[in-house]
Amino acid sequence: MSRYVFVTGGVVSSVGKGITVASIGTILKSRQITVSVQKLDPYLNVDPGTMSPYQHGEVFVTQDGAETDLDLGNYERFIDIDLGAESSVTSGQIYSAVIAKERRGDFLGGTIQVVPHVTTEIKERFMRLAEKSKAEVVIIEVGGTVGDIEGQPFLEAARQMRNDVGRDNVLYVHVTLLPHLNSTQEVKTKPTQHSVNELRRIGIQPDIIICRSDYPISPEIRNKISLFCDVERRAVLPLPTVSTIYEVPLVLEEEGLGQLIIDKLRLKPLSSDLKQWQELVNLIKTPREPVNIALVGKYVELKDAYFSVREALQHAALRHRRDAELHWVPSETLEGDGDYSVLRSAQGIVVPGGFGVRGIEGMIKAATYARENKIPYLGLCLGMQVMVIEFARYALGSNEPNSTEFNATTPYPVIDLLPGQRGKEAKGGTMRLGNYPCQLTSGSHAAIAYGQSLVYERHRHRYELNNKYRKQLEAAGMVCSGLSPDGKLVEVCELADHPWMVASQFHPEFTSRPARPNPLFRDFIGAAKDILREGAQPPLPLSSLRGANENLS
Ligand code: GLN
Repeated sequence: MSRYVFVTGGVVSSVGKGITVASIGTILKSRQITVSVQKLDPYLNVDPGTMSPYQHGEVFVTQDGAETDLDLGNYERFIDIDLGAESSVTSGQIYSAVIAKERRGDFLGGTIQVVPHVTTEIKERFMRLAEKSKAEVVIIEVGGTVGDIEGQPFLEAARQMRNDVGRDNVLYVHVTLLPHLNSTQEVKTKPTQHSVNELRRIGIQPDIIICRSDYPISPEIRNKISLFCDVERRAVLPLPTVSTIYEVPLVLEEEGLGQLIIDKLRLKPLSSDLKQWQELVNLIKTPREPVNIALVGKYVELKDAYFSVREALQHAALRHRRDAELHWVPSETLEGDGDYSVLRSAQGIVVPGGFGVRGIEGMIKAATYARENKIPYLGLCLGMQVMVIEFARYALGSNEPNSTEFNATTPYPVIDLLPGQRGKEAKGGTMRLGNYPCQLTSGSHAAIAYGQSLVYERHRHRYELNNKYRKQLEAAGMVCSGLSPDGKLVEVCELADHPWMVASQFHPEFTSRPARPNPLFRDFIGAAKDILREGAQPPLPLSSLRGANENLS
């Protein structure tokens, strides 16, 4: 039977609860304990698919096509597992399921209440994931902060679990913030005491408290939290801010979190092996030569909107022993007599995914710039559509080619809905979502990158390359190097006469892992790192340095 670890947050949001959950998974996995993870989001949207990236940050897509919270991306990257739709639960899903049951008459005339109907529905989601994953430990992150109105049913369900599956099979971890007061140079515990009181009020006594802070946490502070919150001294763990999120599992392991969970849940006492993880962190912390990448997108003010893209670029750079220095370009700034200064110093250009017409012309200009100046270009979903529009405008000698998403009456709809899709434009769950196979053309950049001919990657889009224009585009030098196995959909395209201009209709960023960068990202950075840009100095070969020193002596 699975054990359950519930992770709640106190005091403020954004203290790194998601990274803590991912790290707990890493620590347990390093002891050969199987884990699965679930995120509970208290909002009433059924999924974040219809939310603006400004509201929510990136929508992370699972292999089975669920549109989920970006925390799931962190779980997958840290624990190196593929999660599914069961790992993402929102209040919207819970209430729609309960109401659908009520309409069907499942409750036989009863009054439908938060307790027990809503809480039972929530608990069924916990158990469903446990059953499906067969994981020894299911880690469940309760989104939001203790005390939020929307989060109450989730916390109540978490509380009931201790009785349902047995005290020894459930663990409550509370992640909290210890603020620092400059005037007295003190780290304060009172807000933590309050949030633990709030938890206790609803019947949850935390077993472990993880204390986030930007300042060192003294033994006295730990003693105080232990005393006031009634938590074992060794179960009050400091988690100071670290330079890379990938260091968090090491810090928590060092503080004894792994052993603590093993003891409390009576798991098999295998020792942990975080050697590779330690090597990864050492590498991240070693200064590396930068590779300058311009990210041209619509939502660049909010870095979380491209969370997985950012991570995938870092993973790829790490593989080449480089540091991806990202320069964010709001695509609108390239429109008209745009400001190209950032592009001029970039060694590679990425156009990531997005929706809606705003900023599209700027992205197209970035693609023109990459094509004409032979700068490596990686297009991700919308970034592929932009590359196709740009190339069509060039090949057809017209400014009219477009996607029908941006201009419904364009005479050259090079990107369009599939014939059967028209009239089904309702938002939410109507896109091509999740894993699809893609057959790569041998010898292409894409096939070289992947080193195999059939790959599966995750999609999230409505529009496709219009086959009516495929021949014309190919005749002008575009290579459709990735196709659906039936040959009907173009999944990857690249330019023949360019060092590395490759774009995919899928989102390769979702499958990148710190120690296993996605092949397209890896080869993109591989091409970009050798590009010398305006003002850049070629690195001196070491041999000439040695020669100079010898002359001096
Ligand atoms: N807006 C485009 C489409 O729906 C691209 C989507 C994306 O980049 N994820 O096809």
